[in-house]
Amino acid sequence: MQYVAKRNNLNKLELSELDKKHYLHPTTPPRAHYLSGPSTIFTEGKGIYLKDIEGKERIDGVSMLWNVNLGYGNEELAEVAKQQMLKLSYSSSFSGQSNEPAILLAQKVASLAPGDLNVCFFTSGGSESNDTAFKLARFYWKVKGQPEKTKIISLEQSFHGVTVGATSATGIEGFNKFTTSNAPNFLTAAAHVLNAELGDKSDPNYSRSIRGIIESEGSDNIAAVILEPIQGAGGVRFPPDGYLQAVRKLCDEHNILLIADEVICGFGRTGKTFGVDNWNIVPDFLCVAKGISSGYAHLGAVIMREHVREAFIQSDEMMFHGFTYSGHPMACAVGLKTLEILERDQIVKNSRLRGEELLKGLKYLESNYKHITNIRGLGLLAGIELVKDPENGISFDPAVHAAALYTDICMDLGLQLRYFDWKGTNTVALAPPLIITSQQVEEIINRMSDAFKRFEKQI
Ligand code: PMP
Repeated sequence: MQYVAKRNNLNKLELSELDKKHYLHPTTPPRAHYLSGPSTIFTEGKGIYLKDIEGKERIDGVSMLWNVNLGYGNEELAEVAKQQMLKLSYSSSFSGQSNEPAILLAQKVASLAPGDLNVCFFTSGGSESNDTAFKLARFYWKVKGQPEKTKIISLEQSFHGVTVGATSATGIEGFNKFTTSNAPNFLTAAAHVLNAELGDKSDPNYSRSIRGIIESEGSDNIAAVILEPIQGAGGVRFPPDGYLQAVRKLCDEHNILLIADEVICGFGRTGKTFGVDNWNIVPDFLCVAKGISSGYAHLGAVIMREHVREAFIQSDEMMFHGFTYSGHPMACAVGLKTLEILERDQIVKNSRLRGEELLKGLKYLESNYKHITNIRGLGLLAGIELVKDPENGISFDPAVHAAALYTDICMDLGLQLRYFDWKGTNTVALAPPLIITSQQVEEIINRMSDAFKRFEKQI
């Protein structure tokens, strides 16, 4: 019989040993983790601040996984979760059964979503939302009498999650290749090649563009295109102006559904309620998670347009799809309260205004430190690039792991950021909670500035 540890009586070393023995971590190298144990054990969070087991405080400059949009320790969200658990802790949405929080959340989401995106299917997170959208897109074509339309086109450097469908659509190589064998009928297109999508056949990427793939595969085989309005984990990559509109038009012309993966962008991250609102397009499916509950509950949704639901209700086909936790009453109650706070406290506006300040601060850093370049941001989603010599376009040697070093220094100075070093890049991502104040934005810039001083000495 093994000793089972009780909560609240173990120190960092003891917890680390238990972690190493019993806890396999997501998106972590197992061997390195097994040897060194957890880098941080978080114990508390309030607002934009986190505390670890050693009592060290840090600003969460990325809302952990771009999800804690209302910050930590929100009492209203805690209270609504408690009350809902006491009232009705669980009920299923199978076989037409329903519950009040799920119904009200569906209506609330519909009221916020652009155009006639009016109908919600609930999931427990982003991967489930995207997998659901793939299945519903195929179901749509099936009930429309075109069951051969099954292929899904996604973009290079995209991230859509880790379930088999979502990982098959994910363009980032490590994730895409992890399973060694993906689901069939997923095709990868070059990302953000605007001219090609507009029909310029002289574009060297034409054959790899969405348009080129539609031409070579035939639109009769293609169910949908999926894209993130701004690529997150791919390295905070923005599309060129006009790109989303061009893809929307292309899909319309070829009778292909458009899925927007707004798992990061949704609910205010980009300074508008949804990422697509920045470019005034309406996808056929809009997938959300993260910000819908601010990370307080595992919740996601696929929001679909009226014509999609219309197709479903014209048919007598059963929908053989649903999760045990689709429409979970506690998660939906937390989601509903999150969206109420979003509106009441004008969080989207705060994201826009604080985002402008953050961008200004990052530009100040660019003009004061030599290794920072390519500042981009919209709302409170921003990225910077670290390069050896910006003037001559010389990158750091990948062996020096520049972005990892910089974010480690930031961490040491009390600022949690994230880095991505795909394909020789050194991207640092910022996505602080949307409740951040001007003063706290300044504090992030100050800590980044101190970090650059140390970085320049160490690199
Ligand atoms: N889509 C995007 C754009 C994401 O950033 C993520 C998560 N980072 C996902 C999907 C997957 O979401 P989840 O981890 O909740 O399954």
